Amino acid sequence: MNLSAETYPRLVRPTLIFAGLAAYVLFTWTLLQQGYLYADEQMYLFCIPVWILGFIGLMLRSDALARLDDDTVVLCRALWCNLGAVTLAVLVPHTLRLMLLVVPLFSVMYAAVHLARSQVLLVVLSSALLYCFGVLYLVAYTNYDSQFELLSGLAFGALLCGVMVLASDMQALRDGLLERNHSLREALERVQDMALKDDLTGVHNRRSIMEVLSRQKALVDRGQQAFTLCYADLDHFKVINDRYGHAVGDVALRQFAELAAGVVRSVDFVARFGGEEFLLVLVDADEQTALQVAQRLAERTRNMWVPGTEEQFELTVSVGIARYQAAERVDDVINRADHALYEAKRAGRDKVVVAQQ
Ligand code: GH3
Ligand code: MG
Ligand code: MG
Repeated sequence: MNLSAETYPRLVRPTLIFAGLAAYVLFTWTLLQQGYLYADEQMYLFCIPVWILGFIGLMLRSDALARLDDDTVVLCRALWCNLGAVTLAVLVPHTLRLMLLVVPLFSVMYAAVHLARSQVLLVVLSSALLYCFGVLYLVAYTNYDSQFELLSGLAFGALLCGVMVLASDMQALRDGLLERNHSLREALERVQDMALKDDLTGVHNRRSIMEVLSRQKALVDRGQQAFTLCYADLDHFKVINDRYGHAVGDVALRQFAELAAGVVRSVDFVARFGGEEFLLVLVDADEQTALQVAQRLAERTRNMWVPGTEEQFELTVSVGIARYQAAERVDDVINRADHALYEAKRAGRDKVVVAQQ
C-alpha cells in the first residue's frame, strides 16, 4: 500500500487510539475476571453508562461535533475520559490501581496541548475530586484497607502534581508558539500589503494594478463585460513642488488618491501608476460611465484645497479614457488611454478625452 506523507498520520492516529483502548478494555476485563475489580450492582449502574459515554465521546469525529467549538470538544473528551478512568481505578483495591491511574494523566497532557490553563486545571481538579469521592464511597460501603488507600491517594496526588508541572511547561511552549504564529501572520500581512500598495497614498501600486489588469483581461476574454481605464495625470504638478515644497506635493498626491477612490465603486480599482499619474480600472463599465467618473474626478480636483497652499491655488487633472477591446494586450489599452491623456494635455489640460476604438 502506498502511504503518502499526508495519509500516514491520518491512519496511524486512530489505529493507536483503537489499540490503546482495546488493551485498556482487555486489562479491565482481566481485572474483573481475576477478582481485582471491586464492583457491586450500584457501581455497575453508575460505571457502565459513564464508560459507554466516554467511549462514544472519544470515538466521535471532530466534524460530527462541528457545532461545538474545538476547545469545548477537547475539554469534554478530557473530562469524559477521566470520569471513566478514575472511577475504574478506584474500584481496584490493589497495587494495580496505580497503573490505571496513569490513564487520567494522558488526558491532562492532551488538555495541556489544546486548552487554556484554567481548563487544564479543571481537568486536574475534577480528577482529584472524583478520586476523593470514590475513596469516600469505598470507606463508607466496603472493607477498605486504610493504609493502602492512604498510600495510593498520596501516589496519585504526586502523579497529578508532576503532570501539572509538565502540562504547565507545555502550555508555556504552546503560548509562545501561538504568539509567534500571530506575529508572523501580522508580518506576512504587512509584507503583502507593502508589496501591493503604494507607500505614499495607500492605493494599489503599479505591480499590483498590472496583475489586476491581467486578471480582468482573462475574465473579459472569457465573456465578462469589458473594463474601461481612466489614465489621470495631475496638471503642472511640478509647480506645486517648486512653489510649496515636496511635502505639500505629497499631501496633494494623498488627497487626490482619496478623491479618486471616492469617485469609483467598491468593485473598481485605483492605482498610483507612477509619480503624479493614476490609473482607474472601472470594471464592467463603458466609456460613457467612465466619462462621468472622470468628469466628477476633474471637478472635485478643481475644488480641492491642499493644506499648505494658498486659497486661490487650483490643482487640475487631465484624463484619458480607453475601453478594453477583445483580445488586445493590456499594454495596448494602457497605451491608448495614455494617448488620449496626451490629447487632453494638448487641448489645454483640465480635460477628459476618450480614445477612439
Ligand atoms: P504636466 O501637466 O505636463 O503633467 O506637467 P507636470 O509638471 O505635472 O509633469 P512633469 O512630468 O513635468 O512633472 C511631474 C512632477 O511630479 C515632477 C516630480 O517632482 C513630481 N513628483 C513625482 N512623484 C512625486 C512624489 O512622490 N512626490 C512629490 N511631491 N512630487 C512628485
Ligand atoms: Mg506625468
Ligand atoms: Mg503631470
